Amino acid sequence: MKVVVLGAGLLGVTSAYYLQQLGHEVTVLDRQAAPAAETSFANGGQISVSHAEPWANPAAPFKVLQWLGQEDAPLLFRLRADARQWLWGLQFLRECTPERTRYNIEQIVRLGMYSREMLRELRRDTGVAYDQRTQGILHFYTSAKEFDAALKPAEQMCLLGCERRVVSADEAVRIEPALRHIRPRLAGATYTADDESGDANKFAREVVGLCRARNVAFLMSHTITALRTTRGAIDHVEATDPDGRFQRIRGDAYVLALGSVSPLMAAPLGIRLPIYPAKGYSVTMPVRDEAMAHQVSLTDDEHKLVYSRLGDRLRIAGTAEFNGYDRDLNRVRCEAIVRRVEEIFPGAGDTGEAQFWTGLRPATPSNVPLIGRTRIGNLFLNTGHGTLGWTHSCGSGKSVARIISGLAPEVNFAFTRG
Ligand SMILES: Cc1cc2nc3c(=O)[nH]c(=O)nc-3n(C[C@H](O)[C@H](O)[C@H](O)COP(=O)(O)OP(=O)(O)OC[C@H]3O[C@@H](n4cnc5c(N)ncnc54)[C@H](O)[C@@H]3O)c2cc1C
Repeated sequence: MKVVVLGAGLLGVTSAYYLQQLGHEVTVLDRQAAPAAETSFANGGQISVSHAEPWANPAAPFKVLQWLGQEDAPLLFRLRADARQWLWGLQFLRECTPERTRYNIEQIVRLGMYSREMLRELRRDTGVAYDQRTQGILHFYTSAKEFDAALKPAEQMCLLGCERRVVSADEAVRIEPALRHIRPRLAGATYTADDESGDANKFAREVVGLCRARNVAFLMSHTITALRTTRGAIDHVEATDPDGRFQRIRGDAYVLALGSVSPLMAAPLGIRLPIYPAKGYSVTMPVRDEAMAHQVSLTDDEHKLVYSRLGDRLRIAGTAEFNGYDRDLNRVRCEAIVRRVEEIFPGAGDTGEAQFWTGLRPATPSNVPLIGRTRIGNLFLNTGHGTLGWTHSCGSGKSVARIISGLAPEVNFAFTRG
């Protein structure tokens, strides 16, 4: 089959890789000159099955209200005259019940464990290298209340097979000695030895290299303007090429992997995707003091931040701001992240050389991505991965490739059925 993949972010490139593995002729389209240049550009660098607790959980409504209008809040809704934002917010509230939270954790963990396994297989088979580290992920807490709230979800994750075990403050410092500075303030931690980290953008570029070597075509600097249908199926994609000329690109099947732009492209087809952009920030800086710098990837749930070590650079990323498609760098939010890093690892990074970035996570109200069929027979979804797009990329890419090929997916997950 000829398959057209819309979007060359982490989800598009992994879809392309697994589709060509199953013998399809694949073309990938993207508006940027290089792959993985939007949300997949400078993320937190975690392969984090243990980060499965969705933003929507029983404690969230109170926190969100408390944070309204607070410029440096970890999760900030900037209320707009935007019906999509309000509708998404209502759907988010519906996902905050204990039952929905448990169900969503189950989906996220199942896909995460499968996906991490597929990533390892890909690494073994191809030798891709992307500053990866297999030292696990440590969630640390400086608030006893936050630590207590993490215990139940961690227990559920363990029951689902994700070994996120509770560790004492002393053990946390043994796992990551750079935490010694805040040892007196540590309320507790959890550690997932099987989780990993690395440079997601390098990973995406490596996968593109593998795809190109296997004749996958990448049409870069092509802006998709519409998906056109005839007789209930997608007939072609309309795009403008780098010279501004309209092009029609045809295939037998199409994968929608346009990140936070996916709902805008699906809406004219009558397909409503519950995806809203959740802006996140990252800071990347060179290591200044090796003795103070972390090696193990860390999660700071309280501040909604993750810390990864990418070679000789530190990457700190996270927080969420619901403010439409705005990608501006807000100085207050950037400074809040640097302040927290300096508080935990003083002098570790060269803050004078810090590079800031924002990206729009394609967030669903439940944090569960949309993968599978649509009611248009030849249009498939691989989008809405929110906070865990890299963690879920290999599992999602392989699953959508199998569904398109008429094969059963290898993981028990709530795939979309159209
Ligand atoms: C701050 C931050 C930290 C994060 N940390 C982690 C982490 O540690 N671990 C993890 O697993 N995940 C993390 N994520 C999430 C992860 O980065 C995303 O889920 C993932 O990058 C989404 O990939 P995507 O392919 O769906 O979207 P994108 O990467 O945005 O890809 C979509 C592509 O579609 C293209 N496109 C859009 N519109 C058009 C159009 N009209 N025509 C042509 N092309 C178009 C874009 O150019 C883009 O390349 C983080 C995200 C953020 C923002």
